[in-house]
Amino acid sequence: MMNKMNVPLLDLKLQYQSLKSEIEPVLMRVAESQALILGEEVVKLEKSIAEYCDCKYAIGVSSGTDALLAALMALEIGAGDEVILPDYSFFATAGVVARLNAKPVFVDSEPESFNINPSLIEKYINKNTKAIIPVHLYGQVAAMNEILEIANNHGIPVIEDCAQSIGAQYFDGRKCGSIGLMGCFSFYPTKNLGGFGDGGIITTNDEKLATKLRQMRNHGMEPKYYHSFIGGNFRLDAIQAAVLNIKLPHLEDWHEARRRNGELYTKLFIEKGLSSEAGFQSFDDENKVLIPKAIYQESGVKNYHIYNQYCPRIQKRDELRQFLSENNIGSEIYYPVPFHNQPCFAKFSGDGSEFPVSNALSSQMIALPIFPELTADQISYVVDVISEFFK
Ligand SMILES: *Cc1c(COP(=O)(O)O)cnc(C)c1O
Repeated sequence: MMNKMNVPLLDLKLQYQSLKSEIEPVLMRVAESQALILGEEVVKLEKSIAEYCDCKYAIGVSSGTDALLAALMALEIGAGDEVILPDYSFFATAGVVARLNAKPVFVDSEPESFNINPSLIEKYINKNTKAIIPVHLYGQVAAMNEILEIANNHGIPVIEDCAQSIGAQYFDGRKCGSIGLMGCFSFYPTKNLGGFGDGGIITTNDEKLATKLRQMRNHGMEPKYYHSFIGGNFRLDAIQAAVLNIKLPHLEDWHEARRRNGELYTKLFIEKGLSSEAGFQSFDDENKVLIPKAIYQESGVKNYHIYNQYCPRIQKRDELRQFLSENNIGSEIYYPVPFHNQPCFAKFSGDGSEFPVSNALSSQMIALPIFPELTADQISYVVDVISEFFK
């Protein structure tokens, strides 16, 4: 039996230790200034993120959820409207739509990219459809060419949910958040770029929308105490921006480390005979671990996947998770319940027969540790334990 190791799903303390000497003086500077909301640090972050995402504008907000909410409010989406989105994502993607009294319309996912299946979108479009929100799940850009073609044919705006995908690129090199009309990002601590609490940002190339979103995040106020429309308190704190300004220059290195970790898992799963290059075609028999892969085009060029999560599909997922836990390995399930099965969305859902893929994903996906500081030994240990499980 191999020696037991400890492999947490995520260890944020390691990243903090490596940046402590840079971060602490900045925290003190914000404390001394007592300029606590928006301000210089937020302006600096907005400039840097706009540049990083190849966008003209970026508007800092209070969370990824509020980024999505403000984006929908800027499009004046409300009662009687419908918004198309994947059935399989984090709750916020659908929650924001329902909060505005609009109807979230769920679409099944693709079995290997885990993103919204573009070939299914068109049949859900009707005269009430006011937006499409593709999610770049786990850090891989959805099939944006296909999605935009349908959206443009019908004159429907596309809002990218980039909460898990900052820095991810479509196979043609376009950065997520610059492809649709707006991109909504989260700085929740577990994302690839995480703050010291909640935070988010919205990117766009549309000047009018950028102006509206700036006003939206501050109760629609302009000038002071005059409100021509209703917004909310979606403002970003200076302390979050200050921390994120320190972290952003390291982001590309962290992406590369996650990608290296992902490639090592994949290589080891194949070497152990647990996964096959054949992919989905042979999932079930010799292909016990369906490895998450960067989708590629006929040209052979792949999406630039930033692996916010490394989630293989596994048949006996729940038993495996128990076994991993007994061997001190952290894991998580993103997500155990697809939207159409959430009690709060019952009135938007049919009998579930439209969602064979998201139903399968919800019982098979498991997130393994992938964070940048993970060692090669830890990854080998995880693969050894999984191999042991299948014996
Ligand atoms: C994290 C996340 C959000 C919400 O971001 P918060 O900053 O936590 O509000 C939205 N969509 C997806 C897909 C996410 O993963």
